[in-house]
Amino acid sequence: VTAIRLQPADHAGVRRNNLSLVLRLLHEGPGQSRASVAAETGLNKATVSSLVAELIDRGLVRELGTVDRRRLGRPATVLELDGRGVASLGIELNVDFVTALATDLGGRTLFQRTRAIDAASRPPKRSLATLVSVAKEAHKEVTSRCTTIVGVTLAIPGLVDASGRTVTIAPNLHWHDINVGDRLAEALGGELAVTVDNDANLGALAEYRVGEFAGTPNLVYIAGQTGVGGGLIVGGRLVRGAAGFAGEVGHMHVVDNGSECGCGRRGCWETLVGLRQLLRDAVPDLAAELESHRDKGPEAKVGPVIERATAKDPVALEGLRQNARWLGIGLATLVNIFNPQVVVLGGFFRDIGPWVLPLAEQTMREYAIAPDAGGCRVVCSSLGFSAAALGGAIFAAERVFDDPTFVPAAGG
Ligand SMILES: [Zn+2]
Repeated sequence: VTAIRLQPADHAGVRRNNLSLVLRLLHEGPGQSRASVAAETGLNKATVSSLVAELIDRGLVRELGTVDRRRLGRPATVLELDGRGVASLGIELNVDFVTALATDLGGRTLFQRTRAIDAASRPPKRSLATLVSVAKEAHKEVTSRCTTIVGVTLAIPGLVDASGRTVTIAPNLHWHDINVGDRLAEALGGELAVTVDNDANLGALAEYRVGEFAGTPNLVYIAGQTGVGGGLIVGGRLVRGAAGFAGEVGHMHVVDNGSECGCGRRGCWETLVGLRQLLRDAVPDLAAELESHRDKGPEAKVGPVIERATAKDPVALEGLRQNARWLGIGLATLVNIFNPQVVVLGGFFRDIGPWVLPLAEQTMREYAIAPDAGGCRVVCSSLGFSAAALGGAIFAAERVFDDPTFVPAAGG
């Protein structure tokens, strides 16, 4: 909980900030009472009671019953974040799938669906049509179950401009300057707030909020999809850079005259640790065939690699070793620049984790200047392929935590 930000001489603004403060406090941990909220926020008890009453009225908080705290004399009523009537929606459009995921304010999943697409070889309007269809389906489902839909965040594997509406470049989708935010907002009736963000940024946000290493202030998230994306949390904040384009770790140049990358350059890190190279190295006889299944997700494509590695096939094991080595080399650069406490590997890296983690970590330590890579650990994501969509739902829900009055009171 941070200090109350007072808006100049604006009573409604002060009240809104205090509602936000109390709601965030209840979100952070269970077992709070009005008295403990007053003690932690420094607000007086009468104010806290009034704020809690309003949050209950808006369906954002509920009372859980009482605990007897003898020393305080009276039993205290335990408060809990509620928000079951409040939904937020995260959608990820990647090269070979669209995933929609809706949660309520307490993070409970209300809806989740994935549909295969082929965004690499079909024109953008085809993927946009599937996106709209999946988004409408999710929207319809949550509208029937919740009274308030806070907003939608769309995750895209590419550069999204600072307005949060337009995809500047998404190399593996072949998208240039597409205002997908306005199109999606319009398709959903024009009333919902739609934000577009980079997929790995949202994956990093999900890891930071609800992943196994949630709350780790210096966390790097690397997602292996068709491309390789990065999301950087430094000092507890997502690094966006001047124009919103930070975190493009997949396009770090690592070798001269390397393979051609989706971005048109050669020798990007993505060309060495990405799925395409892994398939060519680990299952060379199947690579072309697997790559031609454009509507199959990375999870399905990496399956044969896992099968053969499990059977101790030497070619598969050597391919994974190459991947681990290059993974460690790139991670060492990230460690030298950001000194993270943890690197979380998502997407298909999670599936190959058991084979690549030890060597990747060893190589990272070898090439990082700090002793023991500054204490950095490399782990696999516990959130899986829906991390970016989940991060999108979490990002959209922020609007209510910033301003709880966004959700109407029961009386209207
Ligand atoms: Zn590149």
